[in-house]
Amino acid sequence: MITRTKYIFVTGGVTSSLGKGIIAASLAKLLQAQGYRTTIQKLDPYINVDPGTLNPYEHGECYVTDDGAETDLDLGHYERFLNVPTSQANNVTTGRIYQSVIEKERRGEFLGKTVQVIPHITDEIKDRIQILGKSGDYDIVITEIGGTVGDIESLPYIESVRQLQWELGDENAIVIHLTLVPYLSAAGELKTKPTQHSVKTLMESGVRANVLVCRTEHELSDSLRIKLARFCNVKREAVIQSIDASTIYDVPNMMLDEGLDKVVLNQLGLESNRPNLTRWNEFLIRHKNPKSEVTIGLIGKYVELQDSYKSILEAFIHAGAENEVKVNVESIHSEYINADNVKLKLSHLDGVLVAPGFGERGIEGKIDAVKYVREQNIPFLGICLGMQMAVIEFARNVLGLTNANSTEMDANTGEPVINLMEAQKNIINKGGTMRLGAWDCELLNDSIVSQVYEDDIIKERHRHRYEFNNDYKEQIESAGMKATGLNPKTGLVEIVEIPEHPWFVGVQYHPEYKSTVSNPHPLFVAFIAAALKCSIVKKSASMA
Ligand code: GLN
Repeated sequence: MITRTKYIFVTGGVTSSLGKGIIAASLAKLLQAQGYRTTIQKLDPYINVDPGTLNPYEHGECYVTDDGAETDLDLGHYERFLNVPTSQANNVTTGRIYQSVIEKERRGEFLGKTVQVIPHITDEIKDRIQILGKSGDYDIVITEIGGTVGDIESLPYIESVRQLQWELGDENAIVIHLTLVPYLSAAGELKTKPTQHSVKTLMESGVRANVLVCRTEHELSDSLRIKLARFCNVKREAVIQSIDASTIYDVPNMMLDEGLDKVVLNQLGLESNRPNLTRWNEFLIRHKNPKSEVTIGLIGKYVELQDSYKSILEAFIHAGAENEVKVNVESIHSEYINADNVKLKLSHLDGVLVAPGFGERGIEGKIDAVKYVREQNIPFLGICLGMQMAVIEFARNVLGLTNANSTEMDANTGEPVINLMEAQKNIINKGGTMRLGAWDCELLNDSIVSQVYEDDIIKERHRHRYEFNNDYKEQIESAGMKATGLNPKTGLVEIVEIPEHPWFVGVQYHPEYKSTVSNPHPLFVAFIAAALKCSIVKKSASMA
């Protein structure tokens, strides 16, 4: 093992959305598969203290870690690729950096000095970068810098990289610059100029890229690679092509073929070996060779954007591979579901997932959807708000409590079957104040979940303010919906099931955050298995 932590910075140029997170995660996978303990960190240049207050339309899903950090969705990719949990230290925003510098200033820690971007903000950034390295847990820390070089808001980060490269030395800190090599169809050519300019912009800040990863839609020719190397001050083998992939899970192998791991390890003065990707490649084979397929309805209100339910979609991919099933996900906007069209929209589905969410919009459509799948015996998985909707639907339509609701949607509802948690009642600030992170949950014997998890106590991640109202528990249970998972300390209902139904499970937590390539989440695996059964039953019924 190496004695000194090595740092790899990943910067982006030319445009956003090039997939820095996937490149960082793929490289980390290759390093991890050679025995290097590797972690990835994301630095985000916006002023929000964390993405918890961001609308998913702005920034995609908010990912939650075991320690309750509300983070950028790239951390989900890091966990899914590496199968190692991340934490608060893995995601830092400008807002958090400034907040902590300002708090130090208020405590008088700067001893009368003028507090400035350089050195105080950059020192804080450098400390945050090195926290993971100094923990002793990692040989290599990959730090992804959000945004694009040249952005005003990225400057303090780029300056911190410059300082660290200088302080730590070339063998201990390197920079990978991810750029775009666009194809101009009118000219029939790939163009290198944007990359040249982007590398120049980086150099204006005193940072030299050691490796170029070039996103492209067409193969980079040898002469083009030589040209890029010459203009951008990198070795020929350090020009890495990243061509469009059919799945993000192909990218580690593509980077291996391009030799990204070798170039990086070489520049860091580390030995490179053949990575052991056996488990990874087994997953890919199953993922690419499904024996059957199912169609799952994902019912939510951010369906136009793939990123809003990122972890759920990825968990379906892991669970599909585990079952050797292709999972077709049909996104259905809950605002457009009603009692009249619900059959038309859902009857062909083999399973329905009602998504997490906040606020009133689209709620009644979710309830109509739950009613339909409950009555039609279609497998159902409700996550967080989805679980709460299942409870409301059951209370309204089975118990006959027609006014049943969550106090989130109707503060004065006569039947608050979902209620604000006691601990939430006096909270005014919105940021970082939900019930967050991993909490214990005790599973009841003879339930679906105890079979699925093969355990009595599980730990899952949360992000909510409302909960199942235990005043209704007896009534709901005696009518056939069982609380099969409880928080052992507070009795908070974490899981509901309907034993009479083929597969109906609602969970207050977010299983999707913990699904990884090497550890597909058992609940998703079981849900897809139930959907497969449902599709077989449907097929034989239609043939009869
Ligand atoms: N809005 C609900 C609550 O706060 C559900 C949250 C969620 O789905 N993440 O309890």
